[in-house]
Amino acid sequence: MGRVLVIGAGGVATVAAVKIAKNTDVFTDIMIASRTKSKCDKIVKAIGNPNIKTAQVDADDVEQLKKLFNEFKPELVVNLALPYQDLTIMDACLACGVNYLDTANYEPKDEAHFEYSWQWAYKKRFEDAGLTAILGCGFDPGVSGIFTAYAAKHHFDEIQYLDIVDCNAGNHHKAFATNFNPEINIREITQKGRYFKDGKWVQTGALEIHKDLTYPNIGPKDSYLMYHEELESLTKNFPTIKQARFWMTFGQEYLTHLRVIQDIGMARIDPVEYNGQQIIPLQFLKAVLPNPQDLGENYEGETSIGCRIRGIKDGKEHTYYVYNNCKHHEAYLETGMQGVSYTTGVPAMIGAMMFFKGLWRKAGVWNVEDFDPDPFMEQLNKQGLPWHEEFDKNLEL
Ligand code: NDP
Repeated sequence: MGRVLVIGAGGVATVAAVKIAKNTDVFTDIMIASRTKSKCDKIVKAIGNPNIKTAQVDADDVEQLKKLFNEFKPELVVNLALPYQDLTIMDACLACGVNYLDTANYEPKDEAHFEYSWQWAYKKRFEDAGLTAILGCGFDPGVSGIFTAYAAKHHFDEIQYLDIVDCNAGNHHKAFATNFNPEINIREITQKGRYFKDGKWVQTGALEIHKDLTYPNIGPKDSYLMYHEELESLTKNFPTIKQARFWMTFGQEYLTHLRVIQDIGMARIDPVEYNGQQIIPLQFLKAVLPNPQDLGENYEGETSIGCRIRGIKDGKEHTYYVYNNCKHHEAYLETGMQGVSYTTGVPAMIGAMMFFKGLWRKAGVWNVEDFDPDPFMEQLNKQGLPWHEEFDKNLEL
């Protein structure tokens, strides 16, 4: 029934592949392809299913992708490489009649710029081809949008205030490490902050606004306002929203390292001349930082990510908090990866499952909140990311 091609062989792809391989009723033919084939083979070995195929592909090259798609003939490509490859993979999907899903919006390599415009511009072409493209189907973006759609469907007539709160209260016992690809992570965190208020975007300094927020089973954690890509689609898709913000926790030690990295120029994404060759400082830094895939073994603690929503139902003001907590160690025991890879890879698999079950299938380019949230929410509970609700409590925001 389901012929799926996963592109990428990092932490997120590993989790998604493990979960895809477990759901044999939906995913019948599986291939993992990435820049380094040996990493795909390693994933297959860990899963222990020799029927999963692997291949080498440079996803920056549309012709290579087309060749691979024409050989394997997937019905859906799950793009878990880097945001730089989104458009080339979408081009190849259009050329070969393949459906598409990813977890992060396209970013040009030379500019840390987060917006959906490049991918939304493919809408007409996917419509004309009768193909589905599902954008941003990780946790945030991803489950954050599905939580919001679920709240809008079941608990509010009008969502007015939305705060997406992302806490990682884990300890990996390293002086400094990022939880997903370091280059992508540092580009995201060092950009200016931005939130939506009364129809306009308000810009702030990078991590300028912060406050203690209390997370379930964790307690208070200093949480920083930053821009996150799902704010763009959610404010468009839920026009009653007056204010939308995104908060993420960071420890002091992490922030000190980040400041030093920036101050000494290692966060730069423009090329510099070194020993007769051009290098990008942030890419060099990635090569010496811990690999997020190796953090799992000693990672303690848990993540807590959710949506805190205020709005109107039956003429009265209500609040609603929906969240998931995920323990790093449990994620590691199941998949060999830590909680951040887990909370991204599991929703990517569920999105693919929604597609193959015919529940999330419509021609065009869509964000996750454009689809019915109910079957996805049901699968979150079954696939390792159970969610919880709190009604009419103080949201602190
Ligand atoms: P990793 O760096 O661990 O993995 C990326 C993989 O993509 C690697 O296997 C890499 O190959 C491969 N790759 C990179 N460039 C190419 C290319 N040109 N052609 C083929 N393969 C390529 O990243 P993560 O697993 O941590 O993250 C994966 C994605 O998930 C990212 O886009 C990230 O932004 C997104 N993400 C989304 C989240 C969400 O909640 N929505 C949260 C966390 C991450 P190689 O091993 O050879 O380098």
